[in-house]
Amino acid sequence: MTVIDLRSDTVTLPTDAMRQAIFDAELGDDVFSDDPTVNRLEEMAADRMGKEAAVLVPSGTMGNLVSVLTHCARGEEAILGDRAHMFLNEAGGMSALGGVHPHTVANQADGTIDLGVIEGAIRGGNLHWPRTRLICLENTHNNCNGSPLTPEYTDSVAALAGDNGLLLHLDGARIFNAAVALGVDVKDLTRSVDSVQFCLSKGLSAPVGSLVCGTGEFIAEARRTRKVLGGGMRQAGIIAAAGIKALEDMTGRLAEDHANARRLAEGISQIDGLSIDMANVHTNIIYFDLAAGHVTVEQFLAQLAEKGIKLLCIAKPAHFRAVTHYGIEEKDIDETLKAITELMNRP
Ligand SMILES: *Cc1c(COP(=O)(O)O)cnc(C)c1O
Repeated sequence: MTVIDLRSDTVTLPTDAMRQAIFDAELGDDVFSDDPTVNRLEEMAADRMGKEAAVLVPSGTMGNLVSVLTHCARGEEAILGDRAHMFLNEAGGMSALGGVHPHTVANQADGTIDLGVIEGAIRGGNLHWPRTRLICLENTHNNCNGSPLTPEYTDSVAALAGDNGLLLHLDGARIFNAAVALGVDVKDLTRSVDSVQFCLSKGLSAPVGSLVCGTGEFIAEARRTRKVLGGGMRQAGIIAAAGIKALEDMTGRLAEDHANARRLAEGISQIDGLSIDMANVHTNIIYFDLAAGHVTVEQFLAQLAEKGIKLLCIAKPAHFRAVTHYGIEEKDIDETLKAITELMNRP
């Protein structure tokens, strides 16, 4: 049975070209900066993001954590959206390990935070208050319908940060999806941020790895923070080799994932008992709801699983997520829609 796994784009497996590149990779001890493959990936990543330097980390979670801990001292505050992955899905790392105080403000449905709301959250000099140091944005915004943030919005938050002596970090786990959706160069989305992390292991299909990018000085310090967190890796060229292929081969095809997500969303919008807001379909992540009075969430998931189709119920009572990615083809979308239609029409 072929499996159609729409739970996440992290389920993507490395391509044959990646496996070959891993086999052929020239290696060294990266803690001594001796791994030529890691060095090459870091240079490529910095270049793609328009930054001076980059450092490879094992995960997006560590990329964000390294960034926050490098920017902020204990007791300092980071302003971020209340739907942010960094707030909801990273085990509270910034406070647990960095003593950094997260100050959450409301995300809008498109992943932005109102500029006035950010401004209102910036603290003054009163000795009772934590010191604001950092603002964090997320692009595309996972929990806010996979929305891409525009270059203009990002620049306006950066200007606000600059005017207030603050730094701006971008969780760009899916930054290439944002660039493709908006038809802009990735550099336009990163030009005004102080740091950005992006993932190789989601839509780009590499097995492991994320990169933190910023100034040379920031990255030198970030390497130290990575070491503190136990993220200094040795022959990490094994990971980097696949990452290089990811950057070379996989960013150009993301529009296919977006078209497949739209096809799935359009199909879902036609099925009785399911609801989806087409205005919230932007990239490769869609959310939809199952109305009460049809099948239960458990029946819905189990009957699809019988056909090899995997989806995530992400919130109560019946809020689902589907993510398209490399390996999911148009015919898989059609098969999924057929299976859903059948199970919804079953007496
Ligand atoms: C997946 C994700 C991360 C974390 O990446 P991991 O490699 O899973 O640790 C960070 N931010 C966003 C928006 C993500 O979707």
